[in-house]
Amino acid sequence: MLEDIDSKLSKIRKADETSGYLTSLHHLLMWDLWTCLPPEGIDYRERLAGFIAGEQYKNCCSKEIDEIVNSLEDVDVIDDIDKAIVRELKRNRELNVRVPYEKKMKLDEACTKAQVAWKEAYEKSDFEIFRPFLEQIVNLNKEVADYIGYEGSRLNALIYRLEPGLNVRMIEKLFTSLKVGISDLLDKIEKSQVCIDTTLIKKNYDKQHLYRLSKYIVEKVGYSIEAGGYGESLHPFTSFIGPRDVRFTINYNNFESSVFSALHEAGHAIYSQNCDDRLKYTGLWGGIMGFIHESQGRFFENILGRNKEFWLYFYPYVQKELEEFKSMEFDEFYKAINLVEPSFIRTDADELTYNIHAIIRFEIEKDLFDDKIKIDDLPEIWNTKYKEYLGIEPTSYREGILQDMHWAMGLFGYFQSYALGNIYGGQFFHRMKEDKPNILQYAQNGDFEILISWLTENIYKYSKIYTPSELIIKSTGEELTSKYLLEYFNQKYSEIYCF
Ligand code: ZN
Repeated sequence: MLEDIDSKLSKIRKADETSGYLTSLHHLLMWDLWTCLPPEGIDYRERLAGFIAGEQYKNCCSKEIDEIVNSLEDVDVIDDIDKAIVRELKRNRELNVRVPYEKKMKLDEACTKAQVAWKEAYEKSDFEIFRPFLEQIVNLNKEVADYIGYEGSRLNALIYRLEPGLNVRMIEKLFTSLKVGISDLLDKIEKSQVCIDTTLIKKNYDKQHLYRLSKYIVEKVGYSIEAGGYGESLHPFTSFIGPRDVRFTINYNNFESSVFSALHEAGHAIYSQNCDDRLKYTGLWGGIMGFIHESQGRFFENILGRNKEFWLYFYPYVQKELEEFKSMEFDEFYKAINLVEPSFIRTDADELTYNIHAIIRFEIEKDLFDDKIKIDDLPEIWNTKYKEYLGIEPTSYREGILQDMHWAMGLFGYFQSYALGNIYGGQFFHRMKEDKPNILQYAQNGDFEILISWLTENIYKYSKIYTPSELIIKSTGEELTSKYLLEYFNQKYSEIYCF
């Protein structure tokens, strides 16, 4: 019996290792695509990417692997790493096999065309150009959801692709309290008399200075350049090429965008660089994609990156690197990076209202997939929600429903991750401060070792061994709740806005 289990385990470990290599190849190609691929290389590259995706499918979805995975599912003698391999292979297979290959191809094709249409629609700020393509993608995604299967809301099937333990009802519960808390804070902030000037942080500076500054900050915080590297792109991203090769891009739009997006990507990268060495040659390294990864990006960008103690250490370096900041007092700077102001575009939003953008999109997607709203009504519903939750109404499709290409890429059932990541981050931060009460004082002295070692011990090292709902209990001792994020917001903004 045990011998039998050993031989089965060695087969699934091999499939998992191969899966890890193929995923790495995919990331390497993506890095190259967005940083240096010549235009005439695109056609061949698309075929190559398709070939790798096909190999991945063959690797994870063979009949033999399926039988082994099923036979090992309830076996207790295997350790947590092997259990995680079984779980991941099973989910991979379920998602790949339940949806017919032709349907997936049809959806891919529809998305490619929709992205071209979205670009034109965005440039002309004309929803009508995009509408028929969006309708087709939504209908195809509904079919995909029906193939995957679900209970309750149809969106649950698409959420399952990201996180099996999560569903619409759980998300709604978390978002309801978050929405009330944020709206309460927005009322108080609106009534506040505090004046904040963001001119200097919104200004553009010489690229070399911004590069040096971002590099200095992220490496001081814990990003290892020996296991990474930098590129440049308009929309920054991280590429998880290998356990010791995690690179990210920086943009140089203005001070705020450059420094905080570098911190965000560094959060993703530091997480991946610090997984347990035992996972190195498995498909489990790199961290849990989706909202746990997002929680780390947002943690470094906001909870740590917009924190007072953090900047008490780094602000002198800003003033040294960028002359203009010499005339700006620390307090003014701290307030400027924490300004709260409802705005239309999610990616430009402040730390507080950002959550509302994600909640609005989640609510719309839920009603759309439950057939409660029609495509034609989307722009109006969008605008009504912005008016209701943020008190602002987009005056063009470009600053409203056409603002990003997520839907054109077929990404439905994903948007909640942006707010969930913050909720996770708030809860991790609460626990971290309970365990290490002086953690921010260390940061103020430029010592980030205790912080990184807490994150490594409680989150990073596990990578994908546990699911998000198991991880939150393991690292914080509690189920996920919005209350810690709200506590953090209340404490921070009551001090800045004096209420
Ligand atoms: Zn991110």
